[in-house]
Amino acid sequence: MNETFMQLAYLLAAFLFLVALRDLSRPESARRGMRLAAFGMAVAIAATLLEAGIVSYRWLTVGAVVGAAAGYPLGMWVPMTAMPQRIALSHAFGALATTLVGVGEYLRPSGVGSLTRSHVAALGLEVLFGGLTVTGSLMAFGKLQEILPGRPLVFRFQNAINIALLTAGAASLVWLVAMPSEAAAFKAMLVIALAVGVLIVLPIGGADMPVVISLLNSYAGVAAVATGFAINNNILIIVGALDGLSGFILSVVMSKAMNRSFANVLFGAFGAAPAGAVAGSGIGGEMVETTAEAAALRLAYAERVIMVPGYGLAVSQAQHQIKELGDLIEKRGGDVRYAIHPVAGRMPGHMNVLLAEAGVPYDKLVEMDEINEKFSGADVAVVVGANDVVNPAARTNPASPIYGMPILKVSEAKSVLALKRGKGKGFSGVENDLFIEPRTTMLFGDAKQSLLSLIAEVKTA
Ligand code: NAP
Repeated sequence: MNETFMQLAYLLAAFLFLVALRDLSRPESARRGMRLAAFGMAVAIAATLLEAGIVSYRWLTVGAVVGAAAGYPLGMWVPMTAMPQRIALSHAFGALATTLVGVGEYLRPSGVGSLTRSHVAALGLEVLFGGLTVTGSLMAFGKLQEILPGRPLVFRFQNAINIALLTAGAASLVWLVAMPSEAAAFKAMLVIALAVGVLIVLPIGGADMPVVISLLNSYAGVAAVATGFAINNNILIIVGALDGLSGFILSVVMSKAMNRSFANVLFGAFGAAPAGAVAGSGIGGEMVETTAEAAALRLAYAERVIMVPGYGLAVSQAQHQIKELGDLIEKRGGDVRYAIHPVAGRMPGHMNVLLAEAGVPYDKLVEMDEINEKFSGADVAVVVGANDVVNPAARTNPASPIYGMPILKVSEAKSVLALKRGKGKGFSGVENDLFIEPRTTMLFGDAKQSLLSLIAEVKTA
């Protein structure tokens, strides 16, 4: 294929990726963004496959078939609630590909001995970041899928060991750049990178996992940029940079949403309870149970209702029922809004996606800062399967592991109706005193069933 034509195709793909990223930042244009990104990727792949330098398509075909066979079920059948671990697995595969390209480039007959310093620097960075992303992402997958213990595994001198290993990895890279044909430096770097991936994720757990996953996404992007330089491929450099930066920005946004600093996430061992920590406020008390009939009466005559969806809504797939209940209350003259916490559910934007799927108008989805001013004026806040994101301990209990995480100020509403199956804790494993506050009543059961009962009762109220 003509080189100019290929570069033009890459330029088009890069343009499509940029437009897609902009579209993905708003719920109403996110679908189009996804299609544009997929089309851009198809253009980039097609242009690469038509490259004149490719001598045989046999192994490429095998790779494409295996990749599609693994990717299709992952994309179609993994539930949205398992998205973080699915994403971790994708990062592991992507990073494995870049690492193998790096190893292949270095070891091929025309490689060692004829590699320039800049080439070997790119290959080194590729293998360093790629290697730690492979094992780090596999560890994250294992923890989230509960194949490995999900809690942080803290070991003695953990930070000192990790920093020593990272320094040794960087030193191996410098050694390799100084002596490009020194295969021992390359191998040492690869082994260190794989070990670092395991060790840096081991002491992280609980609500910090999503931040780690998007940080690993960022590392995979850096590895892709290095691959682009190593094999002289422009689209890899562009896509890697976009991936690396967007992963980094997402990590920052998520850390902010949980009021955690990067250093704290990476070295703080979230979930390993600090000495003297108490899970709740320690005030004790019982949850007060209500019935659908009594709760429906309150909703039917409420003027202002705020729905607060969380992870349980996603588990129960009750997005259509929450909208139906909201519509019903509005028909009766009430005003209904939906409070969106940035890390409610199991991925950023999870609640936006669910509620948009059910057809809730975008102007009814209100972000945390804005809706927090409205809780005090709400007659009822209906908490549907949310827990950590409404836990007052985040504001009131400095000993709580989630202290400082911005939350939805549900307890300021005149009354709170909480829908959950039982007395289960949230993702962080911390008790929630909201559920024992005097203004809160509990409607126990699966969220969809409870919402269906409420709908039936409001209709007859
Ligand atoms: P949460 O803290 O995980 O709590 C969900 C609650 O839903 C549980 O207490 C559970 O109680 C209830 N529940 C589960 N299945 C249910 C069902 N079928 N019907 C009714 N209730 C059900 O959820 P959240 O308040 O949305 O907070 C999200 C948490 O996940 C935060 O800690 C966040 O940091 C973390 N996280 C977020 C992301 C992200 O990017 N959004 C990613 C990973 C982790 P019962 O067992 O009693 O029913």
